[in-house]
Amino acid sequence: MTMSLCDDTLLCNFPKCRTKLNGFAWVTACSHVFCDQHGSGEFSRSPAICPACSSALSGKLDIVRTELSPSEDYKAMVLAGLRPDVVLDISARALAFWSYQVHQERMYQEYSLSRAEAQLKQMEKVLTQQNQSRELELSAMRGEIVSLKKVMEEYKRKYSEVSERLMERNRQYQKLQGLYDSLRLRNMVVGVGDRDTPPHPGHYDFSTGVVRQATPQKSPQFLSVNHAGDSRFFSCLEADGAKTFFQFSSPTRDKGRAFTKKH
Ligand SMILES: [Zn+2]
Ligand SMILES: [Zn+2]
Repeated sequence: MTMSLCDDTLLCNFPKCRTKLNGFAWVTACSHVFCDQHGSGEFSRSPAICPACSSALSGKLDIVRTELSPSEDYKAMVLAGLRPDVVLDISARALAFWSYQVHQERMYQEYSLSRAEAQLKQMEKVLTQQNQSRELELSAMRGEIVSLKKVMEEYKRKYSEVSERLMERNRQYQKLQGLYDSLRLRNMVVGVGDRDTPPHPGHYDFSTGVVRQATPQKSPQFLSVNHAGDSRFFSCLEADGAKTFFQFSSPTRDKGRAFTKKH
């Protein structure tokens, strides 16, 4: 559009037309100019009103249809015979018209530019706000991740603690199971030797050293206190109790005595 001014071409002043003028143009006393289409359309009715500034154009020479590239003959004759001051006056008015148009166009361009800049600033503002809120969301999420990681670490720690304790309990259970089995075997052997009772449902296999049960006997449940016999052993399972229990009974020689005393 600025290019068109460099091209020395005016634009139609009809709202939103902005057609590059060539051939014939309609010029007004209020310093506006229109393309042939809009000029002939607007100025055919009377009273004529300028579509650009709403000035009433009632004078005989308020509206002139001008050929923009006049012929050599016309240029040779149009100002011929006029005094130099008149020629210069006419030229000065024509130049004033031109510079007004150029000025108007520059104002229009500056206005468009400032509007575009305002829109750009608004968009930048919106984008900055969006970025800020996303940044906030992101940092909130990061905080969440950190706290979740902490929770996870806590769970891991608890898990390893619990599994360590479980392994410890398992070891204790295995020891007690062994103890229980050997005690059961001992009692059985003692029972068979002392009394002349009918054969015990369990049978001691000397080759393997284990008691084969005729009816599968429930092995003592871990920490179970339901069975009176079991509870006697497993009541010792409290951490300290178990320790002293094992310290007390670890020598194989004492084991039997320790328990037989309890009977
Ligand atoms: Zn036009
Ligand atoms: Zn006007």
